[in-house]
Amino acid sequence: MLPAEVLEQVKKDLPVWNGLGYSAMEISHRSAEFSALLDQIESDLRSLMRIPDDYSVLLVQGGATLQFSLLPMNLLHGRETADYLTTGSWSSKAFKEARKANSNVHEAATGAQHNFMSLPERDEWQLSPEAVFLHYVHNETIAGLMFPSIPDVDVPVISDLSSCILSLDMDVSRMGAFYAGVQKNMGPAGLAVLVMAPELLERCRDNLPDMLSYRAYARNRSILNTPPTFTCYVLGLVLRWVSERGGVKVMHRNTVAKSDLLYGLIDQSELYANPIQKSARSITNIAFTLADPALDEKFLQQAERRSLVSLKGHRSVGGMRASLYNGMPMEGVQALHDFMLEFERDWQKGR
Ligand code: PMP
Repeated sequence: MLPAEVLEQVKKDLPVWNGLGYSAMEISHRSAEFSALLDQIESDLRSLMRIPDDYSVLLVQGGATLQFSLLPMNLLHGRETADYLTTGSWSSKAFKEARKANSNVHEAATGAQHNFMSLPERDEWQLSPEAVFLHYVHNETIAGLMFPSIPDVDVPVISDLSSCILSLDMDVSRMGAFYAGVQKNMGPAGLAVLVMAPELLERCRDNLPDMLSYRAYARNRSILNTPPTFTCYVLGLVLRWVSERGGVKVMHRNTVAKSDLLYGLIDQSELYANPIQKSARSITNIAFTLADPALDEKFLQQAERRSLVSLKGHRSVGGMRASLYNGMPMEGVQALHDFMLEFERDWQKGR
């Protein structure tokens, strides 16, 4: 969900952006205006996330999926290895894809035996002494499972922040790299942000085709071919929107308040349940099931009548999922909360 104010601005700018006489969709990516936009995106992202000056900030097409495919390709040479934590769908996919790039990557811990409802205990992780990096997904979007802190290990940590970037205030200097598809919390689909510490960038392979090479992106300020200019433009607006509202600390506080409202209701309820280990609950993706799955369809239909949409859980897990990205205002969450209460009361009456 994009912030309503951003969509309003897009509407105004659609035919003519920035007094240029044409739209952001039509702009040349070689123009001075587009170059200024890229500068603004980079500097806003750096200041919002307190990204260390010597880290590279890259914009890459192909979404987060391409990033978890490129990371092992770029960073691992020959038989080198890396540790992976598999804690749900996306980290499992990342591990599977990494294996195709380098069959030597190592699953250091998994939550599979608990059906990915809890995080593997830290003292059960089997870290490999030779690992070049540790990859994990900070927030598993589908199940709504989030690490309470950045894993503390001796090698550079690479975080997938796709569904928590700009909603969680994090010390990114503790990461060797992080990435996120922009389409959840930062703009429309079409780009991922990849941020990397200099010591990791330096060890990246330099003999890959340019479009697959982080070093080539860094050398060319991310412009190796035609970028999705419209996505860049909306990304620029969203970053400004976050800055104007007080930055990531404020977004984090609001996200906690929104998630508390829903978890508070779920935990009091006889109808709704959240299956995730409490200390690892996501604050951006709140999954819940209904006591009787036969009620799911009725719940979704009634919700939709109140314009409460996109609540159906991912097909792999079922149930419901409320995503509380920054564009979702508290009033929207309150409306969902009130509807859930009412639906439960009706259910109680009918029992
Ligand atoms: N990682 C996470 C945590 C995600 O939530 C998603 C998308 N839902 C992806 C990776 C894949 O992102 P993309 O569609 O941008 O490739």
